Amino acid sequence: MTRRVDLHGDIGEILVSEDEIQSKVVELGRRISVDYAERQLTLVSVLKGSLPFMADLMRAISIPVRIDLMEVSSYGGTATESSGLVRILKDLSATIEGDDVLIVEDIIDTGLTLNYLIRYLRGKNPATLRICTLLDKPARRLVDIPVDYIGFTIPDQFVVGYGLDYGEVYRNLRFVGVLKPEVYSEPA
Ligand code: 5GP
Repeated sequence: MTRRVDLHGDIGEILVSEDEIQSKVVELGRRISVDYAERQLTLVSVLKGSLPFMADLMRAISIPVRIDLMEVSSYGGTATESSGLVRILKDLSATIEGDDVLIVEDIIDTGLTLNYLIRYLRGKNPATLRICTLLDKPARRLVDIPVDYIGFTIPDQFVVGYGLDYGEVYRNLRFVGVLKPEVYSEPA
C-alpha cells in the first residue's frame, strides 16, 4: 500500500528551526561578505537540496556575486544512503577559471559527493575553492574534507526539510526535521 504524505504530520522532531536557520544564514552571509571583499566570488550550488539555502544565502551576501548551479545524483544508493558514485546531471553554465569559488551545499554526510565535486571543480582552475554547508553530519564521514563555513553540526540522523527530501518530498518545509520512524518503514 502506498503511504499518503502528511507534510507536517509526518515530522517527529524539529532539529533546526526556521528562526535558527535564518539567523545562521545572516551570520554566514556577513562572514562571507567580509572574507571575499574585493574578490571575484562565484557561488556554486548543488541542486536540488541546496536550493533554499542558496537562495537565502546569496541575499545575505552584500558584495557582488555570480552564481552557477550544478545538479548531481548519486546512483547505486538507497533513499537514505549515499553510494559515492556521482553522476553530473547539470554542469556549470560558465567558466570558473580564475574565480573564487564557494560551493554551497545542503549537507555533508559521508563526504563522498563533495569529494568528487571538489576534484571535478579543481580541474576547472578556479583561483580558490572553498566550501559552505548548512548542515554537517561528521559522524559518518568517510573522506576528510576541509569545510570552511558550517551552519549546524547535527547528529547521525536522516533529516528532511529546507531543501532536503525523502522520496523527493518534504523539501518545502521551512525547518530541518526528522521524520517519524513509521514513515521510513513504509514505502513512499
Ligand atoms: P554524502 O555524499 O556526503 O554522503 O551525501 C551527500 C548527499 O546525500 C547530500 O547532498 C544529500 O543530498 C544526501 N543526504 C545526506 N544525508 C542526508 C540526510 O540526512 N537527509 C537527506 N534528505 N539527504 C541526505
